[in-house]
Amino acid sequence: MLTIGCHLSSSKGYLNMAETAVSIGANTFQFFTRNPRGGRAKAIDTEDINKFHEYSREHGISTILAHAPYTLNACSADPSVREFALNTMTDDLTRMEYTPGQLYNFHPGSHVKQGAERGIELIAELLNKTLRPEMTTTVLLETMAGKGSEVGRSFEELRGIIDRCELSEKLGVCLDTCHVYDAGYDIAGELDRVIEEFDRVIGIDRLKAVHINDSKNPFSSHKDRHERLGKGYIGTEAFERIINHPALKALPFYLETPNELSGYAEEIALLKALYDAP
Ligand code: FE
Ligand code: FE
Ligand code: ZN
Repeated sequence: MLTIGCHLSSSKGYLNMAETAVSIGANTFQFFTRNPRGGRAKAIDTEDINKFHEYSREHGISTILAHAPYTLNACSADPSVREFALNTMTDDLTRMEYTPGQLYNFHPGSHVKQGAERGIELIAELLNKTLRPEMTTTVLLETMAGKGSEVGRSFEELRGIIDRCELSEKLGVCLDTCHVYDAGYDIAGELDRVIEEFDRVIGIDRLKAVHINDSKNPFSSHKDRHERLGKGYIGTEAFERIINHPALKALPFYLETPNELSGYAEEIALLKALYDAP
């Protein structure tokens, strides 16, 4: 069965997100742990969490993906920005244990003139401060489009972070189709080659989730502007190959396309129709 969902607002809690997901034909969802621009997270409501677990069991919701705020920059040159990133991630990962065994995704960061190598070191340093052996969450590094000084524009950069982490068994990768296409990996024309390269550089076992987005910009544009499926440069046929690829088809897929709920429902229905049952 295709595991498919989209990004949802977390403002009304976990049960509400699960119910919303089911109402649009999804069986998973992604959400921000707090305001995407940062700031405080709402207190965990254990009653909401209990209802969410019960509802998820009944409706077959699995593998939810929490997304860290965009403002989190683990490799800023400014120590106070790195401190904020460390505190935010540590708090998020503590809260994640209320929903054990799920996924937490973050943008590795922007090195801003320090160079990618220094960025990689600082990101690994932060992960080494926050990851704990007893944590049940898998922390995902997102593949980035390479706009500005983003770290994670290549599989090698992600591998560099993983290699410097003491608890690297806690780490995985979330592949964003728009980002990798914009970064110069041709998932539309040469999907097999890109998957082989991912496997050679990072190891396919690290791939835990896919952000499924079309791109408003042509191949290798380093832009990061998401488009609705089939309306951009990647195209519907490529998405059909992506969701059915043997190395990908069991993974959870999350839409982050510019849509209202009704648009997400249409894209979910489209992907389900394109999915070949095993
Ligand atoms: Fe993201
Ligand atoms: Fe993404
Ligand atoms: Zn993006």
